Amino acid sequence: MNDALTIMDRPRTANSTGFDAIIIGAGISGIFMLYRLRELGMTARVFETGSDVGGTWYWNRYPGARFDSESWTYGYSFSKELMQEWDWKEHFSPQPDTLEYLNHVADKFDLRRDMQFHSTVTAAHWDDTANQWIVTLESGEQARSRFLCTAVGILSAHTMPAIPGAESFLGPAYHPARWPHTPVDFSGKRVGIIGTGATAIQAIPEIAKQAKQLTVFQRRPNWAAPLHNSKISKDEMLAIKARYDEIYAHCASTPMWFIHQADPRKTLDVPPDEREAFWERLYAEPGFGIWLGNFRDIGVNEAANAAISEFIARKIRQRVKNPQVAEKLIPKDHGFGSRRVPLESGYFEAFNRDNVLLVDTLHDEPIERITSRGILTSKQEHECDILIYATGFDGVTGAFDRIDIRGANGVRLKDAWAESPRTYLGMLAEGFPNMLMVLGPHTARGNIPQAIEHSVDFQAGILSFMQEHGYTCVETRSEHVSEWTETVIKAAEKLLSSKVDSWQTGVNRNVKGRSVRRVLGYNGHGVYFRQKTDEVAKGGYQEFAFR
Ligand SMILES: Cc1cc2nc3c(=O)[nH]c(=O)nc-3n(C[C@H](O)[C@H](O)[C@H](O)COP(=O)(O)OP(=O)(O)OC[C@H]3O[C@@H](n4cnc5c(N)ncnc54)[C@H](O)[C@@H]3O)c2cc1C
Repeated sequence: MNDALTIMDRPRTANSTGFDAIIIGAGISGIFMLYRLRELGMTARVFETGSDVGGTWYWNRYPGARFDSESWTYGYSFSKELMQEWDWKEHFSPQPDTLEYLNHVADKFDLRRDMQFHSTVTAAHWDDTANQWIVTLESGEQARSRFLCTAVGILSAHTMPAIPGAESFLGPAYHPARWPHTPVDFSGKRVGIIGTGATAIQAIPEIAKQAKQLTVFQRRPNWAAPLHNSKISKDEMLAIKARYDEIYAHCASTPMWFIHQADPRKTLDVPPDEREAFWERLYAEPGFGIWLGNFRDIGVNEAANAAISEFIARKIRQRVKNPQVAEKLIPKDHGFGSRRVPLESGYFEAFNRDNVLLVDTLHDEPIERITSRGILTSKQEHECDILIYATGFDGVTGAFDRIDIRGANGVRLKDAWAESPRTYLGMLAEGFPNMLMVLGPHTARGNIPQAIEHSVDFQAGILSFMQEHGYTCVETRSEHVSEWTETVIKAAEKLLSSKVDSWQTGVNRNVKGRSVRRVLGYNGHGVYFRQKTDEVAKGGYQEFAFR
């Protein structure tokens, strides 16, 4: 059957009391949530800040932007027809191709007619009496709905550098997550980039090829390993299509829903030369194998982690010609893999170029301010024609915090989560009836589209259950929220990543109040998470309260 036709004629306009559901965000989450809601015969409206679909892949148009999930594990799997008709061009798809894919999905299922762009949601208040959400847009426009579906993204609330003087810079300045829709021409330009996180690691080699001078302002280096991207030939794509069921079933069996599975051995049980050969092989392979397919204890055992960190450090020393620059690029404050590992294509070699300068702003030259002409450090003014603020995102809870969300009794979500989010499975938050969260805090993430599909399907199951039983309101039960919160915190306890500042532990020095580590995701095994959600569904969702 043609998947597109089965949902074409569902009701789509609000009735006199509002929509059945309002979805915030038109990225991968919002697109799929809308699709499922239509299948359930519900009226829905998506509000999106951007001018079109795509979320991450709509906004992040900087040079070098691509994902480090294998493309053929990143697409939606809900429609076999869609899987079979789409050809991924590269093993790790660049941003333009991914955006094209998401546009194709929106067109194929005729989803845009329920989407309203240029529409930022500023507030969402639960009306206890009407059992409805009242949603307010930046324009002042309001809409009501029975359900509020947050599909706001874990990396969508971009943050600017907390450095004085940004407004005085006379040249163009860009944040990678608000990149212009037409290419930026760097030729003959002196470019300054602040930050050396995942985005900068992708952008620097590309910008260095064009710019007259690229000055990289680094506060703390990040570990990175080679991506080894390549084109997908027609035959290869055909072979992938023939194996899709197997590939997705395999991903569902791994801890983070990638193709990679940890090696069952412990690092220090393996003789050094064998260990070295294993790491050499992983380092030469495409994708996250060096991180997720490594010995099983590199993320929990300090000595094992020190050994792999030393291996990667050696690689950096081999690839960067100037030993002093190499040392500056080697992280000393966290071990390999204790932050999400950015995968790179020529990042370290970029520092061998005559037109690239690394400025260590932590030890050598702290930034004092941004001036009209560039960046003033404790030592000198670095003149720049273009500035790039690669300063990342207020991860996981940032996009929620930017909306005035109030639940039962007018409680603000931001206040309720000030110390720690309290959710059940990261799907519903305590005290916020009928608010379904895709990628809410404390949910399982990993290979994100797979997490999104799982989460949306679970939530569609709740909605279908409610339709069947005539319920109009769903809430969490406190004892189950406590149990889940404890599970999440326990799963994070033994991980080295929990002892490191990163967006995943909620630390962002550019955001006021974001200096204390929090557990923001479920870091247990993906298979356990699937089992848990399946049990809840099979048991008739008794962990939730319905009326
Ligand atoms: C550069 C980059 C590379 C990445 N690479 C990978 C990868 O390799 N593998 C992987 O699994 N994940 C990757 N991710 C994570 C990526 O965000 C997810 O894979 C996925 O795109 C998330 O989809 P989403 O729909 O949940 O969120 P998003 O794509 O972030 O979409 C959320 C949307 O909500 C909108 N929104 C938010 N707040 C409001 C509001 N108040 N009002 C209206 N609209 C609002 C935003 O404008 C945005 O369009 C990457 C992220 C970035 C930034």
